[in-house]
Amino acid sequence: MERLIFATGNENKMKEICMILGDLNYEILSMKEAGIDMEIVEDGTTFEENAVIKATAISKAVGCLVLADDSGLEVDYMDGEPGIRSARWMGENTSYHIKNQKIIENLAGVPDEQRTARFVCAIAAAFPDGRVITKRGTIEGIIGYEERGENGFGYDPIFFLPEYGKTTAELSPEEKNEISHRGRALTLIKKEL
Ligand code: IMP
Repeated sequence: MERLIFATGNENKMKEICMILGDLNYEILSMKEAGIDMEIVEDGTTFEENAVIKATAISKAVGCLVLADDSGLEVDYMDGEPGIRSARWMGENTSYHIKNQKIIENLAGVPDEQRTARFVCAIAAAFPDGRVITKRGTIEGIIGYEERGENGFGYDPIFFLPEYGKTTAELSPEEKNEISHRGRALTLIKKEL
């Protein structure tokens, strides 16, 4: 079976990815499982650029199909922040409880109509022959007034979906995959593999 490496060290993401791409005829490996340890500087200015930088650097090094994603949360009231800096925002080692509280604080007194936000995910696929494609998935929601839910990771506890009456941290992993930015981008890229 051909190998497909997904360039992430994040186990939560890896689980989501395997659930969606699991039925493809590829052996799906994380960087760690593939024995790859590369520091890649993500200095792009868009989610797509960063995903392409990661996927191509690794694909060139290992010579197989590599998928990489770059994702984040855009809060409209904060001019799109934390955006492409979502993981680094307030410091890489700062807990998400603290980051989430800070966003809630930044939006204190702001009405629902102005609390709009979205998760964005760009996925790049770099093929061994040098071809590269990207797909983007998004999910729209609003920033909640408190953290809710235990599932997911990162900003999930404050990302509220009005039509579900739940945050993405209150959805089951299956429910989240169906509608998430990463799920949507993965489904789009899956069609091209
Ligand atoms: P990346 O690993 O560089 O793509 O950074 C993504 C960052 O965006 C994560 O560390 C989270 O902070 C945030 N993020 C992306 N997707 C999600 C999600 O599904 N739920 C919660 N936070 C997310």
